[in-house]
Amino acid sequence: MAKRIVIIGAGAAGILMGIRLAESGLEDYLILERSDDLGGTWHRNRYPGVACDVPALYYSYSFEPNTEVTRKFASGAELWSYFHRIATRYGVTDHIRFGTDVVAADWDGRRWTVTTASGEFVEADVVVSAVGRLDRPNLPAIPGMEDFAGVLSHSSRWDPELDLTDRRLGVIGNGSSGVQITTAASSVVEQLTLFQRTPQWIFPVQDEPIADKVQAAIRSSRDAARAHYDAFEAELLRTIGGIVDDDQRAAEDRERACREFLGTVRDPALRAKLTPDYAVGCKRLVMSEGFYDAVQRPNVTVETTGIERIEPTGVRTTDGRLHELDTLILATGFHADNYLRPMRVTGTDGRTLDELWAETYVNYKSVALPHMPNLFLVNGPFSPGGSQSVLTVIENHVGYVGQLVDRVVAEDVALSPDHTRSVELLDAIKERAKRTVWYTGGCTSWYLDRDGVPLVNPLTLPELQADMKTPDFADFVVHDLR
Ligand code: NAP
Repeated sequence: MAKRIVIIGAGAAGILMGIRLAESGLEDYLILERSDDLGGTWHRNRYPGVACDVPALYYSYSFEPNTEVTRKFASGAELWSYFHRIATRYGVTDHIRFGTDVVAADWDGRRWTVTTASGEFVEADVVVSAVGRLDRPNLPAIPGMEDFAGVLSHSSRWDPELDLTDRRLGVIGNGSSGVQITTAASSVVEQLTLFQRTPQWIFPVQDEPIADKVQAAIRSSRDAARAHYDAFEAELLRTIGGIVDDDQRAAEDRERACREFLGTVRDPALRAKLTPDYAVGCKRLVMSEGFYDAVQRPNVTVETTGIERIEPTGVRTTDGRLHELDTLILATGFHADNYLRPMRVTGTDGRTLDELWAETYVNYKSVALPHMPNLFLVNGPFSPGGSQSVLTVIENHVGYVGQLVDRVVAEDVALSPDHTRSVELLDAIKERAKRTVWYTGGCTSWYLDRDGVPLVNPLTLPELQADMKTPDFADFVVHDLR
C-alpha cells in the first residue's frame, strides 16, 4: 500500500527530504509550510546585510552546486533563489502547501493525524519534521517594548522594504545577525547604537566576487564544482572544524586571528569594550569582514550599559540616559531548544513530547524519538553544529531518514528507537560535549540548555558521516503493521 508522508517545513531540510523521497519513488509526499514561501531561514531572515558566512560554493547540496551565486559569501536573497531553483528543478514545489501551520500530531497505533492551525486533519504514515532550530524568535522581556513609537522588529521578521536611510537605528544583540545588521546599516543610517550585552569574538573573513571563469567552470563541469565544494569544505574544517576536538594548534590559530582582527580597532576604550573575557569558540564564532570598520564610524556607538526599558522615543539604559531612536531591531536570537514545540505531539500509549522531554531532549541520533513511531527529524535536538555547515548535517540526516522510510515502506512497519538506547547515546554525547569549549569556555550561548549543558553534538564531519551511513536497526523497536 502506498505510504503517505508529511514533511513539516519547506526550508533546506524539507526540500532535500522531498528530493530523497522522490528518488525512492515515494511521490506521495506533502510538505506543510507555515510561511507563504519556501526557503526557511533564507525566506524569514531578510534583515539588512543578511548573508551566509559559509562560502556559497560549499553552502549548497553537494550534488547541486550553486551555479548562479555571485559572491563568496552569498546574500540571503541569492540563497533563497538557490533553494527556489532546486525545489522547482526537482518538482518539490508542487508538493508544498503554504500557509499551513502544524499545531499537533497524534499517533493512533498505525498512522499519524497531523492537525493544522485551521483545524484541518491530514493523515500520514510517516511524518518528517524539518522545522529547523533557529526559527522561533527570542523576544527579550524588556519593559516598555509595546510602547515604542517607531519601527520595532526581530531580525528574522524584518520587512526588507523598509528603507534605513537617515534613520536613528538601535540594534540589540551582537551575535551573527546583529553583527551583519550593524555592518550593513552603519553606512546608511544617520546614527546607529549597538546595544551589546556581551562582547563577541569576531573571526576575520574576506568576501569577494566569484570570478567569471570560476562560475563558467562550475556551470560546465560537475567535477569543477565538486573541486570547489571540497576546497571550501577543507577551508571550513581548518578554521572551525577543530572547535569540537582538542586541536590546540587550530585553537591557537583561531584565537590569534581573532585577536589580530580586534587589534584593528584603534581606540583602546572601544577595543576594551569589544574584548570578550571567554574563550574563542565558546559562543558560535561570528564571521565578519567589516564589523570593526563599522563600529569605528563616527555615527556608530557601542553601548554596553544595560537596558532598563524601552520608551516611545528610544531605549533608556540603567544609567538614566535615553538613546533616541526611530527604529529598533531585536537581533536577540532564537529559542533554539523549541524544536517541534509549541506543536503538541502524542505518540504510543498517549505519551506526549512534553512528557518525553520533561528532563532533557531525549532523542536518537537527532533523527528519531522513542515512543514516536515513524516520526523522524532532520536537524533535531543535539544535532552537530558550530564546527560544520548545517547543510552537511541536513544532508547526512536526510540520507539516514531516507533509509528508515525505505524500510517502513518496504516492510509495512513503524520504527521507533529504543528508549534506553536513546538515553545511553544521549548521555555519551552530553559527556563529550562537556569537554568542548562551548561548556568549558566561560560563556553562555544558545548552544547550552537550561542547565548549562550543550545541546549540540560535538561530532566532527567524518564522524557524522560514519554515524549516519547506515541505520542500526537493532536500536529500533519494529511495529509490524501488516
Ligand atoms: P545569537 O547568536 O543568539 O545572539 C543573540 C544576541 O542577543 C546576543 O548578543 C545576546 O547577548 C543578545 N541578547 C539576547 N537577549 C538579550 C537581552 N534581553 N538584552 C540584551 N541583549 C540580548 O542570535 P543570532 O545573532 O540571531 O544568531 C543565532 C544563530 O543563527 C547564530 O549563532 C548562527 O548559528 C545563525 N546565524 C548564521 C548566520 C550565517 O551567516 N551563517 C547569520 C546569522 C545567524 P548575550 O551574548 O549576552 O546573550
